[in-house]
Formats: sequence, C-alpha cells, structure tokens
Amino acid sequence: GFDDSVLICDEVDPVLNKILQDNGLKVSYEPKITPEQIKEKISTFNIVIVRSRTTITREMIEKADKCKIIARVGVGLDNVDQVAAKEKNIRVINAAEGAMNAVAELVLGFMLTLSRQTARGDRAIRNGQWLKNELKGTELRGKYLGIIGLGNIGKRLGRLARGLNMNIIGYDVVPIDEEFAKEVGLMKADLDTLLQSSDYISIHVPLLDSTYHLINAQKMTTMKKTAKIINTSRGGVVDEDALYEAIKNGNLGGAALDVFEKEPAIGNKLAELDNVILTPHIGAQTKEAQSLAANIIGEKIIQILRG
Ligand code: NAD
Repeated sequence: GFDDSVLICDEVDPVLNKILQDNGLKVSYEPKITPEQIKEKISTFNIVIVRSRTTITREMIEKADKCKIIARVGVGLDNVDQVAAKEKNIRVINAAEGAMNAVAELVLGFMLTLSRQTARGDRAIRNGQWLKNELKGTELRGKYLGIIGLGNIGKRLGRLARGLNMNIIGYDVVPIDEEFAKEVGLMKADLDTLLQSSDYISIHVPLLDSTYHLINAQKMTTMKKTAKIINTSRGGVVDEDALYEAIKNGNLGGAALDVFEKEPAIGNKLAELDNVILTPHIGAQTKEAQSLAANIIGEKIIQILRG
C-alpha cells in the first residue's frame, strides 16, 4: 500500500474512496469544503480530487507544496488551473471516457425531443392546451447529423445516431478515427460544409481560445433555417445571444443546451423560446457515468503511484 494523503473536495461515487483506501491511502472526504478551507489545508495533501463544484485556483496550487496529482472525476478540466499545476510539476488527470455514453444518450434524447416537440406538448397539456394539430414533427431517420469534435463523446453519438439511420457528417481539427468513420459511413467535411448540410448540429469540443464562440452569428447565417443546434460541451462554444436572435427570427429551427456561458442559467432568455430545450448541466449525471469516472480516476491514481 501507499501512505499518500488524499483530499476529496466534492461529492464523488463511494467506489473511489474504497479503491484508494484499499491501497492504503489516507482519504479526507470533504464534499462541502469551502475554497477558504482548501487554501488552509491543501499544503498537507499529496493528492487533491474534485468533480464540478470546486475550482482549484492558482492561489490554492501555489500553497500545495506536497501535491503530486490533481484529479477531476469528469472530463472537462476548466475548473483546474492547469498552467499553475504544470509550473509546480503537479500531474492533472481526468476521467476521459467516463461520461461518453451518458452525454451521447442525452444528445439522442434532445434530438428526439426537438423532432417531436415532446417538451412543448407536455408544457401545453399542463397549461390546459391540446396542441395536437400544431405539433407536427419530423423523423430522425435519413436526416443529417453534423458532429463537431469526434473525440470520445462525438464518436459515441455517431454510433448511436447511426442506429437510427441518420447520416453522419463529421469535422475535427485532428485526423478522425478511421475505424469509426467506416463503421458509421462518416462523411468528413470542413466546418462550413458541415454547418450548411446538417439538420442537427451537435458540438463536442473542449472550451479553448480557439473554440470560444466557434458557433457565432455569422456561422448561424450559413445553416439551414430548420437546423437545430445541440450543445452539451461547454457554454462559451456557442454565442447564446446570437442563438437567441437566430431562433427568435426564424433563421434556425431550435436548440438544446445542457451548458451555458453563465451557470446556473436561471433567467436565461433562451427559455422564452418554445423550440428550445434547456437542462442544468446534467450530461454526466448518471449513476453509471459517475461510478465509471470514479473507477477510472481510482485506477489512474494507483497506476501513477506505482510509477
Ligand atoms: P475529447 O477530448 O475526447 O474530444 C474532443 C474533440 O474535439 C477532439 O477530437 C478534438 O480534436 C476536437 N476539437 C478540438 N478543437 C476543435 C475545433 N476547433 N474544431 C473541431 N474539433 C475540435 O472530449 P469529449 O470527452 O468527447 O468531450 C467533449 C466535450 O464535452 C468537452 O467540452 C467536455 O468538457 C464536454 N463534456 C460535457 C459534459 C456535460 O456534463 N455536459 C460531460 C462530459 C464532457
């Protein structure tokens, strides 16, 4: 066993605690710890673990003199100051594959909800309206799904959507996995072609300087008027003001968003629009994804400690 000490700052699946303790690590599980408390005690820990609630800042990292690993039990690393960690020689790890099926299934649900307007029908019935005639839908079969970013989640989505007989168009800045491309009959395209040709556009890129407002007002003018945008990646990737205007003015068919420029997205004006679905950043919030991510992080930590 190892005798490293671990600080877990957010609520994580208990399996992580078990893996670490079984290997002799001393775990402090503090799912409600405040930033002030982290600053006070981070210097005594060898490993720091977060999920989504906690942000590990430069100020914290500069105090983390014994820290070897910062782990995020999830995918995106935007709540860890990676530059500061690198300067202090701290490894930053994530659970890259933990959420891929959960997020891909959420997108599938979004597409089905948008195509049949089930959320709107449900809202209407609760308000005493029977919109049978208004809610004429479309089918996903044969429609073009453009996937921007073909990493873990993008590829999983492609495989699921192929099962519904959608046509898959893909764009990435790195070469796309050939086996995947063959399996789903992928049409590779540049971003502009993808945007012009797709009925559904789903975004699966990390938030970087180069992807900030990747989907902006100008790009929206090139899309089909019936196109629907789905964003489960990070809020900053889509310009929400532009999206609001485009949908409101009938230049886009609708949208589904799980992530927002400002979270919690309470009071977001996109909620005024009937053909928009909003969820509170639940992409990875399944029992299965949480336990998979906890397992992945546990195994990775033990592997690193073994050298
Ligand atoms: P990944 O790293 O496996 O794949 C990302 C892909 O995007 C890579 O192939 C990369 O080359 C590509 N890419 C980068 N910049 C690009 C650009 N400018 N244009 C096109 N492609 C580009 O990541 P993933 O696991 O598939 O996750 C994708 C996104 O989903 C991330 O932003 C992650 O934070 C987010 N995510 C959200 C939730 C949620 O709860 N909604 C859960 C998990 C992950």
